[in-house]
Amino acid sequence: MLSQDDLKSAEKFSTKTHLFLSLNNLAPTPVNYSVGYIYVSKNHQQLAQAIDQKSHDNKPIDTAFIEEMFNQYLSNSNSIQHDILEPFFASLTDTLQRIDHQVTNDQQLSNNLEKVSSALVKLDNHHSVQDIVSYLISSIKSSHQQHQSLSKKLEKTSSEVNQLKNKLQESQQEAFLDSLTGLLNRRGGEEKLKELALEDQHSSLMIDIDLFKNFNDKFGHFIGDKVLQRVAKVIAESVDKEDLTMRFGGEEFLVVLVNKAKSEASLIAEKIRHAVNSLKLKQRQTKITLPPISVSIGIAEVEEDQHWDDLFKRADDALYRAKNTGRNRCVVA
Ligand code: GH3
Ligand code: MG
Ligand code: MG
Repeated sequence: MLSQDDLKSAEKFSTKTHLFLSLNNLAPTPVNYSVGYIYVSKNHQQLAQAIDQKSHDNKPIDTAFIEEMFNQYLSNSNSIQHDILEPFFASLTDTLQRIDHQVTNDQQLSNNLEKVSSALVKLDNHHSVQDIVSYLISSIKSSHQQHQSLSKKLEKTSSEVNQLKNKLQESQQEAFLDSLTGLLNRRGGEEKLKELALEDQHSSLMIDIDLFKNFNDKFGHFIGDKVLQRVAKVIAESVDKEDLTMRFGGEEFLVVLVNKAKSEASLIAEKIRHAVNSLKLKQRQTKITLPPISVSIGIAEVEEDQHWDDLFKRADDALYRAKNTGRNRCVVA
């Protein structure tokens, strides 16, 4: 929940943002709005410097520039949710509620006045009062309409803010995923590791496709990519939902098996090795069957490791031994 003070400052920044947008002839789209809001609320030093520099150089602050600012500084930032959307959304909800209340009050007042007015019509000698009442009714009706149209505008903004929220969430998630395989990338893996305690009994698998360079040279990078996707899918399907599967490098994958000792990890590794080796891959156009793919896997369990990197290093050493002893095999550290 935001305090009354937070609401007040959100409203203040909202007003400033509108000013900033109109001064620069920018439409109040969610992207323009967020950049403007962060700028006027002085929440991001680099962004503010970039915008100030632009206006100092007398260059236009246009949609393209704002979009660039958004992508560079805000789209992957976790703080955007906290800094812009929550306060802004709360102030919007608050304003909507107040307007709604006002509209209801206006309606009641207007209904009461209608009653007075019809009562007055029956009395011949109250024309002047009747005029005043008619005037009040019509001005209340027009304020009622204004409120309704304002309320509609705000609802529209509110739905735009929701869209922005979703867009940001998507782009934050995308930043953590590998675009080719859909697995976590290293950054995504690092984020997820923060949720795990290294003291618990976890294991890790370092998986590397064997002689993949030869494969690429022979069949081309495009088919190589397809193979990477299939191998990634096999790995993802061989582990539990809670386990972390990342694309660690080009044709190398890292799995963290959560709360699993190395005995269980070995079984999973063997399952993966066998499933990859059993893949039947066909080149779609030529219908040529591709040679079997194999992986080598290094397995390590958390010991006295100080950091995750220590665990991964031991798995990598085991992988190195698997490579040196003939490939297409699993070796425990
Ligand atoms: P080893 O069994 O020793 O691992 O041999 P290798 O050929 O797999 O190892 P090496 O490190 O020599 O080559 C890795 C190759 O993986 C090189 C590169 O062409 C390929 N590769 C890396 N990333 C990608 C990718 O995103 N797509 C494709 N198609 N190939 C990739
Ligand atoms: Mg390899
Ligand atoms: Mg490699």
